[in-house]
Amino acid sequence: MELQFYNSYSRKKETFHPIIEGKIGLYTCGPTVYDFAHIGNFRTFMFEDLLKRWLLHLGYDVKHIMNITELDDKTIAKAREEGVDLRVITKRYTVHFMDDLKWLKILPADKYPRATDSIKKMIDIIQILLDKGFAYSDSDGSVYFNINSFPDYGKLTKLNMKDQKKTKRIMDDEYDKGSPKDFALWKGWKEEDSEAVWDAPWGKGRPGWHIECSAMSNETLGEHFDIHCGGVDNMFPHHENELAQSVCSTGKKFVNYWLHSEFLLVDGGKMSKSLGNFFTINDLKNHGFSAESIRYQLLSGHYRTKISFSLKKKQESNKVIQRITDFHSLLKIKLADQTKSNGLPDSYYEFSDAMNDDLNTPRALAIFLTWMKSEMKRLANDVITINEMKSAWNYLNIFNSVFSFICEKEIILPDIVKELIDRRKIARINQDWDLSDVLRDQILEQGWLTEDTPNGQKVKKV
Ligand code: AMP
Ligand code: ZN
Repeated sequence: MELQFYNSYSRKKETFHPIIEGKIGLYTCGPTVYDFAHIGNFRTFMFEDLLKRWLLHLGYDVKHIMNITELDDKTIAKAREEGVDLRVITKRYTVHFMDDLKWLKILPADKYPRATDSIKKMIDIIQILLDKGFAYSDSDGSVYFNINSFPDYGKLTKLNMKDQKKTKRIMDDEYDKGSPKDFALWKGWKEEDSEAVWDAPWGKGRPGWHIECSAMSNETLGEHFDIHCGGVDNMFPHHENELAQSVCSTGKKFVNYWLHSEFLLVDGGKMSKSLGNFFTINDLKNHGFSAESIRYQLLSGHYRTKISFSLKKKQESNKVIQRITDFHSLLKIKLADQTKSNGLPDSYYEFSDAMNDDLNTPRALAIFLTWMKSEMKRLANDVITINEMKSAWNYLNIFNSVFSFICEKEIILPDIVKELIDRRKIARINQDWDLSDVLRDQILEQGWLTEDTPNGQKVKKV
C-alpha cells in the first residue's frame, strides 16, 4: 500500500508525494516554554516522533524542525509573575523539555529555532504584508492582518467566512474559532511586555505568536514544504493564521500536508491541575512509569482519535513492553553467532500496510503482537528455523526502530551473570523448573538475587 495521510486541509486521505524525491521537510510546532510540558503535549510530540520514525524507516531523508515558543503572551506573563527576565523562564523550561524528550526516547529534531533569533525575518514578512495590502498598522505601533483581504482565510479550519462581514481585531494570541478576527502580526509595546521589545519601521513592540512559525519555517525549510504538524488545538487560530501570512507574503503554496493529532484525556476526562489529574513527565516517573510504557499508552491509540491516559493502565502496558523485551532477548540469545539476512516474515507487510494507512497504530500493533505471540510459541517449542528467526529478528528491529518499546535500561551485570540469567529465562520458557532452580543458585553464588515477577526476572545485588 502507498503511504497515505489524512490531510486536515482537504479532510481526506491523500497519497503522499514529497516535493523533492526522497526528501521531506517536516515542521512541528514546539512547546511554549512557560511551564513543564504535560503528558497531553507529549501525546502530540510522540505522534510526531512516530511519523518521523516511520518516514525514516521508509528511507526518506527527513529534515525536522521544531520551534521553541519562547515569546508569546504566556511566557511574558510568567516572567512578570516571577519578577525575572524572560530568558530565565524560557531557558529553565527549555532545559526541562529537552530532558523529557530524551528520556521519552523522542528522536531529536534537526533544529530547534527560537523566536527571538528570527525577529528580523518576522519584520521582513510583516513589511511585505503591509506593502501588499494584506495588513494595516495602528496608532499604538501594532500591525494587524486583515483576514478579509485573503479569500482563502478559514479554509484550513472550514470557517464560514460569509457570516463574518464585520471583523474586529484582536491582540491576544489565542481566541475562539467562533469569532475569527483580524489578528496581531506585531504588538505595539506595552509596559507589561517589559524587555520583550524590538524596533520595527512602524514602531517598537514584539511579534504575535503566529508570525513566529511563519518566519522560522521559512528560514529553515523554505517557503513551501511538505508536512506541518501540531495538536488539534493548534489548527485555530495558530495554523489558520500562519497559513494566511505565509501564502500572502510569498504568493506560493505554504504546506502540502497538514497533520493534526487529537487531544489526550486523563481517565476519560479533561486534564486539569484542579482535578489533580495533570501529569508532567516527572510526575509519571514518580508513579513508576518507564519511558516505554508511556510510549505504549500514547501510541496504542490512533493519532486522530482521543486517547485516555490512566495511571491504572501502567501494569497492562508494562506487561506488553516486557513481552516484547523478552522476545527480543530470547531471539538475541538464539541468534548469537548467526550472520544477518534481509528476509522478513509476511506479517511485516501487513504491519507496513497498516502504518502506511495514515499511521494506523492500533492495527499495526495488533498485527505485530499476534505474530509475536505465535513466534514466541514456536521458539519455546523449538520448531522455528534459523532463517525464520533471522526474519523475525529483522522485523522486530524495524518494529522497534518505529515504536521504541524495547526496554534498554538494564542493570549493568557481569557477563557470567547475564549468561546465567539468559539460560534461566530459556529454562523457564521450557518449563524446566529444576534447571531454573540450579541456575538461580549459581546466580546467587555470583552475588545476585533473582526474583520472578509477573513481568519477568528481576535481579538485584545481594
Ligand atoms: P503548547 O506548549 O501549549 O504550545 O503545546 C505544545 C503542543 O501540545 C501543541 O502541538 C498542542 O497542540 C499540543 N497539546 C496541548 N495540549 C494537548 C493535549 N491535551 N493533548 C494533545 N496535544 C496537546
Ligand atoms: Zn507554530
